[in-house]
This record gives sequence, structure tokens and C-alpha cells, in this order.
Amino acid sequence: MIPHVLPTYNRAPLEFERGEGAWAITADGTRYLDLGAGIAVNVLGHAHPELVAALTAQAGRIWHVSNLYRIPEQEALADLLVAHSFADTVFFTNSGTEAAELAIKMVRKYFDHAGEPDRIEIITFDGAFHGRSTGAIAAAGSEKMVKGFGPLMPGFRHVPFGDLDALRAAISDKTAAVMIEPIQGEGGIRVLPDADLREIRALCDKTGALLVLDEVQSGIGRTGRLFAHEYAGIAPDIMMIAKGIGGGFPLGAVLASERAAAGMVAGSHGSTYGGNPLASAVGTAVMEIVTAPGFLDEVNRKAGALRQKLEALVAAHPAIFEEVRGQGLMLGLKCKIAPAELVTAGYAEHLLTIPAADNTVRLLPPLNITEAEIDEAVQRLDRAAARVAAGAG
Ligand SMILES: *Cc1c(COP(=O)(O)O)cnc(C)c1O
Repeated sequence: MIPHVLPTYNRAPLEFERGEGAWAITADGTRYLDLGAGIAVNVLGHAHPELVAALTAQAGRIWHVSNLYRIPEQEALADLLVAHSFADTVFFTNSGTEAAELAIKMVRKYFDHAGEPDRIEIITFDGAFHGRSTGAIAAAGSEKMVKGFGPLMPGFRHVPFGDLDALRAAISDKTAAVMIEPIQGEGGIRVLPDADLREIRALCDKTGALLVLDEVQSGIGRTGRLFAHEYAGIAPDIMMIAKGIGGGFPLGAVLASERAAAGMVAGSHGSTYGGNPLASAVGTAVMEIVTAPGFLDEVNRKAGALRQKLEALVAAHPAIFEEVRGQGLMLGLKCKIAPAELVTAGYAEHLLTIPAADNTVRLLPPLNITEAEIDEAVQRLDRAAARVAAGAG
């Protein structure tokens, strides 16, 4: 008999009743150190007092009104995002997938508006993940996601991630956009070098294509900058965010330059819930904390400490690990064993990590994890690796 919850996940036999900072706690009080943060979502950990206060204060005022009316909380969050990014304008969604969907629509509308309605091809990359809508799975194109769901939405052309020669061969003045994650998350914490991102920006400028960055996982301080592309010193035309921006409340957004948003007018797009007062109040609290002076310096300091300890861990377990990769607190341990084995051994050590493609285990702790918790996490990883090595994973 089919479970009452549609069985599209292989869930671990763990359930948590509450959380405190970097800790997720079961009903019997067992504390798990959470280096997954709900897949890069809980950027300020669990039950952060300022987020709880923002949510509960808003909950006592008004939850939802729809986008038929002005929403001051949404306008405040848009102001913050515009002030801290390349963007001139923001559309709020409830998830990364919906943000990807709008980004694709915005690209098409841009060229339609420019009198080139046939210019629809978007170049994307192997190993990419942009969500699970029909548009997003067509964009990513992986066999695992698209099998059985055809016919796929047309207009995507896939090239190998980081293969600039392939990109140069594929891009032309017929290309509508290049859509890429600065660091692939689900794809296994694969970092695009800054020089490559600059080259992609230049290729887009040369051909007139739009650059669409998917920072759903890498954004909101995760890499030590507010957005990962800042390291390359470039700006996209359109960017999707989600995950971290809501700190655990479902929230996403598309950020765009005024030029890229040309053609988007009243009636072009919509969302019942997107940017409602509850979500916007929490998003604003997250942005205020992450952009406060010194916050990202702390993230970088702790990321440096974690990175150094992980390098030592990898050196200590050469049969288990191949390398550490990533940036800031978006880190991956590339494994020589199946990543699920390490993740499962981590559960036995009361440690939460997240498997990814390319044989990688992701470490995406809350950005406010303490140094003592980082030490504790690495010790638990060390014991988990020893379990796997002993075949007791
Ligand atoms: C998680 C993710 C998405 C999809 O976001 P959802 O909120 O799950 O719809 C899109 N792109 C990237 C890079 C992601 O990590």
C-alpha cells in the first residue's frame, strides 16, 4: 500500500522535535550537530531568537493579503536586496524552483520585447540543478530527473560544467542566455573558477545573451560573500535566490537589472503567496543579520578554520576521502567510498551531513556555527570516517 506521504524520498529514520542553533534535537533529547542546515536553508541555525521574534510579531499582525495590494514588508525586503546587490528589481517566490521558472520566462520575454521572439535558447551545464518544475528539469537535463516526464520543454542546450571551449562553441548571437550555478550544490560542490565566470560574462556581453546565475544554494552569505559571484567581480543580469533568504521559511526571489526585466509588466507574471507579509518579515530579519557589519568576516574566519581542519581530516583518512572543495561554508568532501556510507556513519555519531552527486558529502552548516561546534563536528566526522573504514558504517 502506498504511504500516505508520496514516497519520492528515501528518508533517514530520524525525526526531530526542536532545534537550537546548530543542533537538531529528537523527542528523547538526543542532540544531532546539524551540518546540513536543511540543505543550506537554516543560515542562522534553528530557532534563532531574532527570526522567531520577527515571525511571531508578524504572525500577530497580518499573515497574508495577496499581491493585489501593496505589501510594505515585501517592499522593505526588496529595498534591502536591491541595496546589497546588482539588482534594480525583485520578484518574490516561495521556492528556488519557482524562481528558476520566472528566470526562464524573463529571458524569453526580454527577447520577445526586443523584437527577437525566436531567440529562446538557454545554455545550461551538466550536473546543474535548478529545481523540479518541467522547465527546471529540462534546464538541468539529467537523466535521473527527466526520465518518464517527457516531452521536455524545448530551448535548452547542455554543455559540460566548466568546459569553456564547449561554451564558446555553443554560444552565438542566437543564444538567449547562459544559466549557471557559480558553485554547483546538488552537483557535488563543484566550484566554477572566478576567471571562468568572468569569461562567461564576457561571452554573454559579446553575443548579447543574458547571464542568469542560480544562487539558490550559494547565496545569502553561504560562501563568505553575500553572493558567490561577487568573488569574480562580475554582475549577472538575472539571479535566482531561495534557501537561505528565508532562514527556514519558504521564500525565494528573482533579482534582475532594469534592462533584463524589460517587458515584465502588470499581468506578465504572478504568485498568490510570493513575498507575503510573513515570509517577507522573516526574509528581512535574515538580510539584516547577514548584512550587518562584521557578520561575513566571522563567516570567513570560521570557514577558514573548518577548511583547515577538513584538510587534516582528509589527510588522516586517505582511503575514505579524496579532497575538500568549496568556498566559505559551502563545502564538500569528495569521497572514495559511497557518500551515503559516510552520511549514515555520521548519523551514528549524531552528525547531519548531506550527500550530493560526484561522490561528494556536503557540509553546509549554519553561518553562525561556533568554533567549538566546528571542532566537535570535525571530531564526529573523524569518528564517522573511522566507522566506514572499519566497515561498520
Ligand atoms: C535547491 C535548489 C533549487 C530548487 O529550490 P527549491 O526551493 O527546492 O525549489 C534550485 N537551484 C539550486 C542551485 C538549488 O540548490
